[in-house]
Amino acid sequence: MTTLTNYIDGRMTAPAAGGYLDKIDPATGRVVARVPDSDGTDVARAVAAANAAFPAWAATPAAERSRVLLAIADGIDRRLDALARAESIDTGKPVTLARTLDIPRAAANFRFFATAILHTETETHATDHTALNYTLRRPRGVAGLISPWNLPLYLLSWKIAPALATGNTAVAKPSELTPTTATLLGEICQEAGLPPGVLNLIHGLGARAGMAIVEHPDVRSISFTGGTATGAVIARTAAPLFKKLTLELGGKNPTIVFADADLDRQLPSIVRSAFANQGEICLCGSRILVEAPLFDTFVERFVAAVSRLTVGDPLDPATEFGALVSAGHRDKVASYLDLARAEGGTIRCGGDRPTDLPARCADGYFLSPTVITGLPMACRTNQEEIFGPVVTVTPFRDEAEAVALANDSRYGLAASIWTEQLGRAHRVAEAVQCGTIWVNCWLLRDLRVPFGGMRQSGVGREGGDEAIRFFTEPKNVCLKL
Ligand code: NAD
Repeated sequence: MTTLTNYIDGRMTAPAAGGYLDKIDPATGRVVARVPDSDGTDVARAVAAANAAFPAWAATPAAERSRVLLAIADGIDRRLDALARAESIDTGKPVTLARTLDIPRAAANFRFFATAILHTETETHATDHTALNYTLRRPRGVAGLISPWNLPLYLLSWKIAPALATGNTAVAKPSELTPTTATLLGEICQEAGLPPGVLNLIHGLGARAGMAIVEHPDVRSISFTGGTATGAVIARTAAPLFKKLTLELGGKNPTIVFADADLDRQLPSIVRSAFANQGEICLCGSRILVEAPLFDTFVERFVAAVSRLTVGDPLDPATEFGALVSAGHRDKVASYLDLARAEGGTIRCGGDRPTDLPARCADGYFLSPTVITGLPMACRTNQEEIFGPVVTVTPFRDEAEAVALANDSRYGLAASIWTEQLGRAHRVAEAVQCGTIWVNCWLLRDLRVPFGGMRQSGVGREGGDEAIRFFTEPKNVCLKL
């Protein structure tokens, strides 16, 4: 069994108090590693190292910071197989998905921000003929970066890369459920020549290690991705300490399918938008809204396509749909199936454990992709984030009702619209209250665009210039002419 370590001041370090948590492979239900159960002492050491490293890293020329981050990206590429396998064993996701999505995207995150800092501009404002203002943007100091279990290295690197590229140092915490790729990233940083203390990785529970990062007075910026309830706790803690905060939280995303949608071409993408990564992507569409004339045909074709997904051992390269991340999460998702039945829903496919799993996976946390019809938008199944392989399909009459149903949610993260009418796509995109709208596509990501949610899906934006602005402090200099 592997024993993972923290990465503090450039060294692999055991937790100060010597406590460990079990790391379980969700495909088998077996313990496969021990994870540091870090506490405030470990976090204090990491913050001290990050603080000590900050002045020199902030003063390092952008070209040199860029070179080191590009070396980290190359290191990720070189370890593609090991990282993909680790991500699959930690999360239960298909290894093929980790190989083609998670790990390449982690390398892309480093390359994107390593090169972005070579091309940034700051503003100048000429005040009539009397003064010239210019804006300086400087790194803010130690950043606290906290990420969830669903896309472990993908989301952690989405925070680490802009924080470090802009000259900050960081203390980062992956989810306690999915720690392995972060540990490997520490090794990659050592090999790439990242100066000690610039990045520190702390493992452990949210309420202990995570909270210690949020509460530490020397951590000036907090970038958090996770659940809405956790985001509220972090916001409450960080506000009186005047920390800069970005919160990327939960979602209950609408997928709006008009009767003129080109189903022959788009159905595979709509299935993917619902069930990629077992539906455990914050951007997955879990409320599918279909224009009434297409409803019956859509349900028939959608259910047939979902039933054809290859559910199986995540380490089998042919698997398209793996295990849920933990027993607790599988039980939570399954409880929504009971709720949906009690609320009057009809389960059109799934709703149970897949039957033809290999013996290795007999005790794994599997649940078949599930499609439900017959539920009103106001019910709990349609209002609460399930974050698993469960979608509802609901008919709508016209464009106005589609928009009303889509917006009937406390969340506002992402939506997708499927139609061949350009004008309608624009109108609906403008009316739906979500931070990201995809038209005839899903998860098509350009790393320059603002990414984040409205309402209870979060505060602030990541990506491109938004991230560079978040991790820097603007200062205006006014020069009288
Ligand atoms: P979570 O909120 O339980 O945990 C996220 C991270 O926060 C983990 O590292 C955890 O250890 C830590 N944490 C927990 N309590 C903490 C506390 N009090 N202080 C500091 N840190 C704490 O979320 P999860 O179950 O890991 O992830 C699933 C959630 O993440 C879903 O709601 C999903 O929608 C959301 N998510 C959002 C996005 C987005 O970009 N908006 C992306 C992925 C996932």
